[in-house]
Amino acid sequence: MNAPHPQWPAITTPAQNFIANRWQAPAGGGELPMVDPSDGAPFAAIARGNADDVGTAVRAAEAARDGAWGRLAPAEKGRLLGTLSRLILDRADELALIEARDCGKPLAQARADVAACARYFEFYGGASDKLHGTTIPYPEGFTVLTWREPHGVTGHVIPWNYPLQIFGRSVGGALAAGNACVVKPAEDACLSLLRVAELAAEAGLPPGALNIVTGLGAEAGAALVEHPGIRHISFTGSPATGAWVGAAASQRHCPVTLELGGKSPQIVFADADIEAALPALVNAIVQNAGQTCSAGSRLLVERSRYEEVLARLGERFAALVAGPALADLDCGPLIRATQLARVRDFLASAARDGIATVAQGTVAADAPAGGFYAAPTLLRDVPIGHRLVCDEVFGPVLAALPFADEADAIRLANATDFGLVAGVWTQDGARQLRLARAVQSGQVFVNNYGAGGGVELPFGGVKHSGHGREKGFEALFGFTTVKTVVVRHG
Ligand code: NAD
Repeated sequence: MNAPHPQWPAITTPAQNFIANRWQAPAGGGELPMVDPSDGAPFAAIARGNADDVGTAVRAAEAARDGAWGRLAPAEKGRLLGTLSRLILDRADELALIEARDCGKPLAQARADVAACARYFEFYGGASDKLHGTTIPYPEGFTVLTWREPHGVTGHVIPWNYPLQIFGRSVGGALAAGNACVVKPAEDACLSLLRVAELAAEAGLPPGALNIVTGLGAEAGAALVEHPGIRHISFTGSPATGAWVGAAASQRHCPVTLELGGKSPQIVFADADIEAALPALVNAIVQNAGQTCSAGSRLLVERSRYEEVLARLGERFAALVAGPALADLDCGPLIRATQLARVRDFLASAARDGIATVAQGTVAADAPAGGFYAAPTLLRDVPIGHRLVCDEVFGPVLAALPFADEADAIRLANATDFGLVAGVWTQDGARQLRLARAVQSGQVFVNNYGAGGGVELPFGGVKHSGHGREKGFEALFGFTTVKTVVVRHG
């Protein structure tokens, strides 16, 4: 395994776990193949870690928490994270190629993900010595203060769709707050993270501050969630797995941040600047082939301009091309064969239920036959309650429907179990704010849309999209616990 492809860099990270700044063979000795979504062929392997490996990593993290990492001044911790950020940028070409091959992302997207990952470590490196408590007015003769303390050892479960970005946002915040981390990345794509872990050691992070155990969710992932030494869990993934993680964590009263799925609405009013909205509407569903939790996957358009918007959007969809990561087209392949089957199943149910296709892009003629390609598709008049407007497709499929007025737009926007992100397109300032208040979601973009990115912007969901916040300064509150100290001095 790990055979180099002529156009790709050789994968230099071994099929082992990265614990206490060195490669360690998995206790069970197994390997998992890594498949290139652009051609469906295996090209590398990772370790199949298990509960024993998680135990080793937690012990290493506890030693770091009580030792070299825990003792470092916050400003020194921040400096090391800043150094890691620069090393990531130094290796941007290599990391982008690894990410593009592993996830099937167009190379330009992978480059943006590397930049975002570096930016997380830069942002949180700068924040680590600015996280402080408060003093609280209390009766005469007392002084009351609060400290923000790290949880200790934090666990991080990362999905495959944005490994570098989600690793940066989760681990960056946790380390900046003074925690030592154990990471279980996704078995479908995680090679870039193993390389970043090596860079973290090169940056000078003490052994045990950052540990990675690769493997399957039901093995290494579940063991991490259930390990009593893990004092906070940051989970990003599907709502179903998130429900299990939340339940398992509650058994031992461990705090969790759950970043789950979405079915985010793009709400376009008749007074919107449609020309400005069109590229954002396309990008929000095509980015990463629609495999983005915050993808703008539902399009709600005021009835008087519905036909016009669909016609203009249809022209753009018809011109979209999916192809291999290195071709750097509008979108790459889906992550794996089962994900492609899932998207095809959604499209089959649309055809069965008489839902009309406005336009469909194409798959590049020279795309390898073994790749997992889905052509971007725009569907119209999808009935409320249909799975295409209720469930995450996690593919490049946009479901459009018209609305009558503002109240109807709000009703439709909130008519799913999810609540992650919403886009509002209108020139009416008062309506912008009314919608931003009325829509049930963790983020609202007005006359713009940001799927991913936005390191500074607190991010997370309501309802089935999860709870807790990552990104921005807000995340640091979740990665710490407050201790209140009450001193009676007379
Ligand atoms: P998934 O839940 O199957 O896997 C996510 C991670 O959880 C992987 O690392 C996996 O190994 C691990 N895992 C699986 N079972 C586990 C268990 N029992 N215990 C612990 N860990 C376990 O999700 P997926 O299908 O790989 O990812 C896609 C989903 O993630 C989508 O629903 C998407 O919306 C969501 N997502 C959300 C965000 C966000 O920030 N809100 C970001 C990216 C992806």
